[in-house]
Amino acid sequence: MRAVAVAYALALVFALTMFPLAGQTQPATSPPPPPLDEHAFVAPPRSSAVLAGNDTLRGPSQFMAGTVAVRLVLPESDGSLDRSSEDWTPTQIEAVRSQVQQALDWWTAQLPLARLRFELRVEVVPTAYEPITHGLSDEDRWIGDVLGRLGFPGTNHFDQAYAAADDLRDELGADWATVLFVANSANHSSGHFADGRFAYAYINGPFLVLTSTVGAYGTNRMAPVAAHELGHTFGALDQYSAARIDCTRRSGYLDAPTDNSQYSGCGTTLPSIMLEPMGAFAAGQIDASALAQLGYHDSDADRLIDPLDTTPSLELQASTLASGSGRPVIHGSTRDLAFPSTYHQDVTLNTISAVEYRIDGGPWITTTPADGAFDSALEGFSAELPLYDGSYALELRALNSAGASSGLTAQQVDVTWIGPQPRYSLSAPAASATAQLHLQLEAPATTQAVEVSESTSFDGAAWQPYTPEIVYSLSGSDGPRSIYVRFRDQFGLVSLPYLARTAFDTLPPRGSAMRLPAEPALLLLDASDTGSSVTDVEVTVDAGAPLWMPYARSIQLDGMTATQRVTVRFRDAAGNRSRHMTALVGYQVALPLIAR
Ligand SMILES: [Zn+2]
Repeated sequence: MRAVAVAYALALVFALTMFPLAGQTQPATSPPPPPLDEHAFVAPPRSSAVLAGNDTLRGPSQFMAGTVAVRLVLPESDGSLDRSSEDWTPTQIEAVRSQVQQALDWWTAQLPLARLRFELRVEVVPTAYEPITHGLSDEDRWIGDVLGRLGFPGTNHFDQAYAAADDLRDELGADWATVLFVANSANHSSGHFADGRFAYAYINGPFLVLTSTVGAYGTNRMAPVAAHELGHTFGALDQYSAARIDCTRRSGYLDAPTDNSQYSGCGTTLPSIMLEPMGAFAAGQIDASALAQLGYHDSDADRLIDPLDTTPSLELQASTLASGSGRPVIHGSTRDLAFPSTYHQDVTLNTISAVEYRIDGGPWITTTPADGAFDSALEGFSAELPLYDGSYALELRALNSAGASSGLTAQQVDVTWIGPQPRYSLSAPAASATAQLHLQLEAPATTQAVEVSESTSFDGAAWQPYTPEIVYSLSGSDGPRSIYVRFRDQFGLVSLPYLARTAFDTLPPRGSAMRLPAEPALLLLDASDTGSSVTDVEVTVDAGAPLWMPYARSIQLDGMTATQRVTVRFRDAAGNRSRHMTALVGYQVALPLIAR
């Protein structure tokens, strides 16, 4: 109790200093709110899921990551059943919207690994009731009425809320959705419902409820309370003592315990939005147990939180033969496997980004998505294998949007009916100082065409007539490049891609040269090159003939004395030459000692 009181006193200090910084108008004389005492509940599952006998439907807000559609619903009483005592003004609506947006922004800032993005939609909806005159026990009346008027009829208000959340989630293409009701309490001095509540939420959705003046907090302090309630919406439990949550109570997608609960002496009193919202909101504090209940736990410390740390599976089905070419066609399916949840529907937010194959350990080649795009968690794929007669080792892998790869699926492929593989070869210079890369090709004279690309997908490449030398234009900055060429034979059959590596290198090497007074005949060199590598050094002694020799860190020049002048310049693999520089005689401690 004492710890809570201390936390609460600190919270008051934060509250008074935070809001002027945030541009709010909270008067300094505003009385402190009482310690938070609301409650979070568990909503029944969707009726459709119960009828189906299994929970095949994704919950509205299972863990706090990805994109979240938020439906902010402001009921407006029309006086037809209850007397209308509250009327939304544009100023009030804007104040509530701003506070809710601050709460959403707060979560986005606190969870940098969650890829969080909230999309808020504000709706003022007429109702026959005056919500603030009701309470939790008859929330179904006004919530059911409001959701019905929004176009979501149903047998109970939970199903209606699931439908309203699902609808906005589908419309916005979001991962999750929730509904946030704010009942206007401007003309109720207590700021709470008839049963004393002013804020409550359902664990993991589908909705949460606030009054517009948030009990004793006031509208200008709605954001910390809204942030706390949103914690419930994504699985976090209360930690303050009055909520009576045991430390061992588990919650959320990862079924994590409430380690920081103050109810039964868990041993910690860490500042947290789920313990004391005012101070924790100002200071940006969430304890690890609340984070874990939200799904924000990275058990293998790879900076992918567990629910986003998923891996694809890949299944290869029976292969067929392509109708035109007669070549083998592989078919399969891949699924991104969700991080498993104990009690929630397994859900992954990652998508399959590619399925690739390779032949005999060659370059990876992308397959064709069955539905036109690799953009969902479940994808079918196919690929016509550009193989001639022979026995090949086929390997496949699927990649997901988090960068994870499935295990390799391996299979032997035997082809005996296409004909022999034509003799093809490709070579490129080790480095190129110009953008015009000269490729050397070998192929039968009957070869119809070739394609050149820096990708095995050959996207954007065009077939061109076969010639033994082809000039390919490199673009972009210096660095190593992989160039792929594929051939089309006299029958129109395309080959696998052939790979040539080169270094695009337009810049000369950088370097220095020196000699030590004790060993003037020893030339010490230190050169480097970004695009390729330093291959040669040209050494000139006095006015003698320059001599190119292979680059080394030290070169012995027999019989040379300290008075003779030595100049050098370096050359890289692409032929770029540095400026001439004099190898000065001196002591330079920065040069490493070289073993000769
Ligand atoms: Zn709570």
